[in-house]
Amino acid sequence: MADDGMGPAIGIDLGTTYCCAAIWRHGKVEIISNDQGNRTTPSFVAFTDTEVLVGDAAKNQVAMNPANTVFDSKRLIGRRYSDESVQKDLKRLPFKVVAGSNGNPLIMVTYKGKEKRLAAEEISSIVLMKMKEIAEDYLGTTVTNAVITVPANYSNAQRQATKDAGIIAGLNVMRLINEATAAAIAYGLDRKPKKFEEENVLIFDLGGGTLDVSLVTMEEGIFEVRATAGDTHLGGEEFDNRMVDHFIKEFSRRHKKDISSNPRALQRLRTACERAKRILSSAAQTVIEIDHLYDDIDFSSSITRAEFENLSVDLFRKCMEPVEKCLRDAKMDKGSIHDVVLVGGSTRIHKVHQLLQEFFNGKELCKSINPDEAVACGAAIQAAILKGDKDDKINNFLLLDVTPQSLGVETAGGIMTVLIPRNTTIPTNKEMVLSPDYDNQTSFLAKVYEGERARTRDNNLLGEFELSGIPPAPRGGPQITVCFDVECDGILNVLVKDKNTGKRNLRTINDKSRLSKDEIENMLREAKKYRAENAKYKKKVKARNALEEIAYNMKNTIDDEKIAAKLRPADKNKIDDAIEQAVGWLEINRLAQTVDFKRKMKELWSTFKPIMTKIYEAECPYDG
Ligand code: ADP
Ligand code: MG
Repeated sequence: MADDGMGPAIGIDLGTTYCCAAIWRHGKVEIISNDQGNRTTPSFVAFTDTEVLVGDAAKNQVAMNPANTVFDSKRLIGRRYSDESVQKDLKRLPFKVVAGSNGNPLIMVTYKGKEKRLAAEEISSIVLMKMKEIAEDYLGTTVTNAVITVPANYSNAQRQATKDAGIIAGLNVMRLINEATAAAIAYGLDRKPKKFEEENVLIFDLGGGTLDVSLVTMEEGIFEVRATAGDTHLGGEEFDNRMVDHFIKEFSRRHKKDISSNPRALQRLRTACERAKRILSSAAQTVIEIDHLYDDIDFSSSITRAEFENLSVDLFRKCMEPVEKCLRDAKMDKGSIHDVVLVGGSTRIHKVHQLLQEFFNGKELCKSINPDEAVACGAAIQAAILKGDKDDKINNFLLLDVTPQSLGVETAGGIMTVLIPRNTTIPTNKEMVLSPDYDNQTSFLAKVYEGERARTRDNNLLGEFELSGIPPAPRGGPQITVCFDVECDGILNVLVKDKNTGKRNLRTINDKSRLSKDEIENMLREAKKYRAENAKYKKKVKARNALEEIAYNMKNTIDDEKIAAKLRPADKNKIDDAIEQAVGWLEINRLAQTVDFKRKMKELWSTFKPIMTKIYEAECPYDG
């Protein structure tokens, strides 16, 4: 990577359930693994009495702290509390969500003993901050530049909110790109495109919470998303839920007890089910074993792949609907698809694979790219291109995305008049001339909406633009031009101007639910605190692990035959007791502080050292 003073540029796949970061360097994409050595990081944030946990640390404690462990913020971001989809999610989410004063959903948690309300942008920013930190640890340098991916069907508001989350995380968001486009780039990288021949690729991305289907056309390095379709509530979590329900019923049959009202038991069962589901992608059968699941009852059962597939078969079938819709929108038939690319962890499920293959009349599906990492890979390539990397392998890529929803203005009678139809290639701009509704009207209000319905009341209001100071004139006289300009991010700018006087009103769509500058400033300050806390937490985990390691090393040392032979039984017992005491202490003091771990380590060492020194001194040939 040439040192151009701007620092590295990474790609981040900010998933509903898992995130993945990658970087283009030394002529290839590298996946950035986290502090646990994992290549993906759960999009989980947990608030405890002492700190904020993110990623694996947050997901691992979810059963103990379900009400304060937040996930799925990607479902809430850029949406209104009253949205049907938000209302549906609230019934399912184990943490509390309330309506904010601007109609946004706010997540309510208890943090350090106090109630705290956070916007979805803040939760996503904490996750992004973690990804930034993971990349910084991996690369050994500060990372600020990033390309972040979003679902193809994300609205304007959702894109803006995601960009805000990036800003709060301290990132320079170079661009937002569609996840499907990113996956297509990753797929296209290793292929030698046939000259003068168009190739149609269907990207089928089934993740933890969503299904996104996109049709991408590639021709000599140009990627064009022709159409997108999807389902925002279809993915791994739904399959997990079906298995959870299955075992709740089994538990109730066997033990006459209903565990569904116990959040902790439910969460433990859910974790076990997700694990079982993953195993069933490579094994025909697996077991579920959970100690003390409910009322001290140990639960143990088994499930076969066929049983699991049967539980969700209707959901798997439902996955094919967006495929049909996407082909329809692109005006293509199955036969014109050259390759079907599998993306998202849930495409590892056999049944999904099988149904998709059947749909494409037995066609072999492309599995050459890693479904968990493809999106981050594509984002990393896009980041390198934007950074100006001159590598030939990536230099031929040119990306064209499309608008996920139609964009328009309200005209007389509450009618949605579309300026930019869904699936228009971006960047794009379009203008339309409108007239005031009545005589001598001196101001004009343009209401901008996104959505596919004929009436604006059924679509999503993005913002209102007022142009005042229009010279009074009879109806139909003044002509107002409304210009729409959609950036590469898919974010809309609107310009309203008086055709006669040239008076104008230009601004980026800023719908009422979007965070204000002050709110973002506040969140930035909070984010700094979380960052400092996280650093403290990391130090603590290091001290804790060091104590654990030293205790086990001591145990191995004194159990070693040669050393044990030299130890007096009383001394061996003394060390054994000290180790046992330290390990026991660790068990019940998981939340202790760095100083406590260090103190404990010193105590242990003060027992171990004099005894061991005695042995070695006795052995020293030069002694006395
Ligand atoms: P997202 O982008 O939506 O966050 P991912 O693409 O990372 O999600 O996929 C996460 C989902 O994939 C989870 O529901 C997880 O349980 C599921 N998953 C991961 N690996 C497997 C596997 N081997 N078999 C079945 N499902 C899997
Ligand atoms: Mg994904």
